[in-house]
Amino acid sequence: MDSAASASLHLERLVAFPTVSSVSNLDLLDYVETVVAPYGARVRRFANEAGDKANLLISLGPHEPGGIIFSGHTDVVPTEGQSWTGDPWTLRKRDDRLVGRGATDMKGFLACCLASLDGILARPLSRPVHLAFSYDEEVGCTGVGSMARWIGESDLRPRLAVIGEATGMDMVSAHKGGLIGWTHVHGKPGHSSQPDRYVNAVMIAAELISEINRIRAEMRDGPAFEGLDPPYSTIQVNQIKGGLHGNIVAEACSFFWEMRVVPGQSDAAVLERMQRHARSLEQTMKAIDPSTGIEIAVQAQIPPLVPIEDVALRTELLRLLDRSATRAVPYGTEAGIFQNAGVPSAVIGPGDIADAHQPDEGVDIDQLVQCVGFLERLGDTCR
Ligand SMILES: [Zn+2]
Repeated sequence: MDSAASASLHLERLVAFPTVSSVSNLDLLDYVETVVAPYGARVRRFANEAGDKANLLISLGPHEPGGIIFSGHTDVVPTEGQSWTGDPWTLRKRDDRLVGRGATDMKGFLACCLASLDGILARPLSRPVHLAFSYDEEVGCTGVGSMARWIGESDLRPRLAVIGEATGMDMVSAHKGGLIGWTHVHGKPGHSSQPDRYVNAVMIAAELISEINRIRAEMRDGPAFEGLDPPYSTIQVNQIKGGLHGNIVAEACSFFWEMRVVPGQSDAAVLERMQRHARSLEQTMKAIDPSTGIEIAVQAQIPPLVPIEDVALRTELLRLLDRSATRAVPYGTEAGIFQNAGVPSAVIGPGDIADAHQPDEGVDIDQLVQCVGFLERLGDTCR
């Protein structure tokens, strides 16, 4: 079977598992394990606390240090509210494209990993190839940590991790880090004719959001990282809920914020500024009622990706990709987490990131073919 047919077949199977982040990915992992079993794979799962999701690490070839990791996430974003022209969980061929939820982000890459194994394992390896498939990437890269830490602490010492998010098969060497979370304002409700007797959670939230707006304005003139678009850090609020009725002082208000910081800027320092502002507002709130307050709950922190230091490795990757330069992207990936675990990392994968999370998400078959070829050439470096 040629690589287009093999990748398409695996993608069809992978898309059929509706692995939105809120549900189990174990059936998908079972499928992957049946695919790799004939190759004599060593398999290790890293389950979440509830036991309904897991990371999967598959090692092929000898147990030696210096291998290469191909990594991707198994979860996808939901399809509710999107106008799909067909069943999102049934892969469809449209012209030279394959359409289905996750085709781009990022089951296309997972399918390429599986399709590359025939070629990679046709001849003996002297160093291993590892497949590292994660869960809960789409809710803030919160799943992969256990596996990345284990790899970092093991004797595997891989020389490279390729994270296959969609880059059009370019080499992405840098991206921003992210910090996301909820802010909950607990006020004191009462009749709106007496606003000074109560604590209006919606109005307090507005104050906090104003501060976020000021931080955003300052970030435009703050540290810049060439190649990123925009080259500066950003912060914003995209979700808010609060209040019960037009004439009741609002008891509760919550909003979700996200910041994306350029490599070199501290997301912790920004968070600390938000917390300081919250503490100062709380003084006025608590003077009216001590039970009121503001809670800032960080949901996830995604470290930035900085370019691989080893120039020879960077050059080797560009040569294998037939590219002349690396790129930087504004979105976060799991690459920084592998990098923090001590594995040099880059983001290289099939498809266009603009198609990710969209209705009728799709990937060009040619991109899958290019990706399988690249993974096979990477495998050859492990002979
Ligand atoms: Zn993704």
